[in-house]
Amino acid sequence: MEKTYLEPKEKKGLLVVLTGDGKGKTTSALGMALRAAGHGMKVCMIQFMKGDIHSGELDSLPRLAPEVEFHVMGKGFCGIMGNPYKFPEHREDAQKAIGLSKEKIASGSYDIVILDEINNSLMLHLVDLPQVLELIDSKPPLMHLVLTGRDAHPEIIKRAHTVSEVREIKHAMGQGIEPQKGIDY
Ligand code: ATP
Ligand code: MG
Repeated sequence: MEKTYLEPKEKKGLLVVLTGDGKGKTTSALGMALRAAGHGMKVCMIQFMKGDIHSGELDSLPRLAPEVEFHVMGKGFCGIMGNPYKFPEHREDAQKAIGLSKEKIASGSYDIVILDEINNSLMLHLVDLPQVLELIDSKPPLMHLVLTGRDAHPEIIKRAHTVSEVREIKHAMGQGIEPQKGIDY
């Protein structure tokens, strides 16, 4: 069957927020990168607070180059058991990630910029609300901006066009099952 290629009458850059305590925020953002790459759109994904665990996307996203560009900034989740890095080190990395985000957004070279785990970085004070609001305000009008992570700030939710809350109904971890490759990382 012949497929219809839709084009919106009016293009608009959206602010999309993926939050909540259930599993599926980062993988949803990865899904959008995959989808957009298929349209030949340019995507830049910057991960805050990641980098300690080898997740599959580290190897699969580069295969979507040149449409998708990927930056992992950080030393893992701040404050979770087993993460040996102290707050100032996490904050320094998150501040570098903010700098890179600013640069990438201002470049005007991307159709979509994804800032993964920025919501929880804000909640943990690794970045500050005015910094995130400045990023949002500096967004080119046609560029989509996707912000993921639990505990999205109300001010950010207010400014967003699309907000999804992934709510945990249950998680394998609650049944004593360790994280599984391809599903959890
Ligand atoms: P994913 O990367 O799988 O889409 P996520 O981005 O929604 O998950 P994060 O808070 O970033 O969730 O946590 C990432 C990791 O923590 C994944 O391994 C995920 O399975 C796990 N995780 C997510 N939600 C929960 C939960 N409610 N309980 C336990 N582990 C969770
Ligand atoms: Mg995540």
